[in-house]
Amino acid sequence: MPDTLTIALSKGRIFEQAVPLLAVAGIGATEDPETSRKLILSTDDPQVKLVIIRASDVPTYVEYGAADLGVAGKDVLLEHGGDGLYEPLDLRIARCRMVVAGMPGALLDGGTDHRRPRIATKYVRCAERHFAAKGQQVEIIKLYGSMELAPLVGLADLIVDLVESGNTLKANGLVPLEHICDISSRLVVNKASWKMKHARVTALLDALRAAVEPGAAA
Ligand code: ATP
Ligand code: MG
Repeated sequence: MPDTLTIALSKGRIFEQAVPLLAVAGIGATEDPETSRKLILSTDDPQVKLVIIRASDVPTYVEYGAADLGVAGKDVLLEHGGDGLYEPLDLRIARCRMVVAGMPGALLDGGTDHRRPRIATKYVRCAERHFAAKGQQVEIIKLYGSMELAPLVGLADLIVDLVESGNTLKANGLVPLEHICDISSRLVVNKASWKMKHARVTALLDALRAAVEPGAAA
């Protein structure tokens, strides 16, 4: 019996942008997660199913083998950390930048009062690493969303957030001040699935790679 594959995806931009790639690889979702309440979706390949979970839970499902593969933002993977997963392919979707942002003219070093600047973010590890690499002492405040609000109400001096067009920052009177890294979504693979379902996994990986880099197809 051929191996079945479970692929973990989040709703929204990752699902929308992964669908065309999966379609090229011969996997069409038979339902739309935006309208279906189901968390497990079948595909037109009876050997492949999709599980729809929170973006930040994708690495956990894949690491523990609840899904063989997944699609996760590099931001989520950096925060998840560790080497519990393979990350063989940059899918080049859901692209954006991780930046330090604040009010125009906000000082990245906290100014002259020698107070450690307060940084509000969902991306605590990335923020810690970024400021530590610059040798800068900061106080990090963990938030779960709407980071743009923090500087406006005096919760933080700066934020670390993802920016695509910059319109959300702009709408809140904030500007990007420092680029941390470019972000895109990656295919991640469970380590045991990589070995035990090698033929299935590499066939899908090759098909996705050809979909991402049409010129580089073997
Ligand atoms: P959750 O809803 O579980 O809190 P989330 O808000 O990060 O997670 P999405 O907004 O669907 O979930 O984002 C999923 C992924 O898309 C992120 O992990 C990131 O890699 C990417 N992403 C997030 N914001 C943007 C953006 N503004 N532009 C492009 N890609 C983005
Ligand atoms: Mg979001």
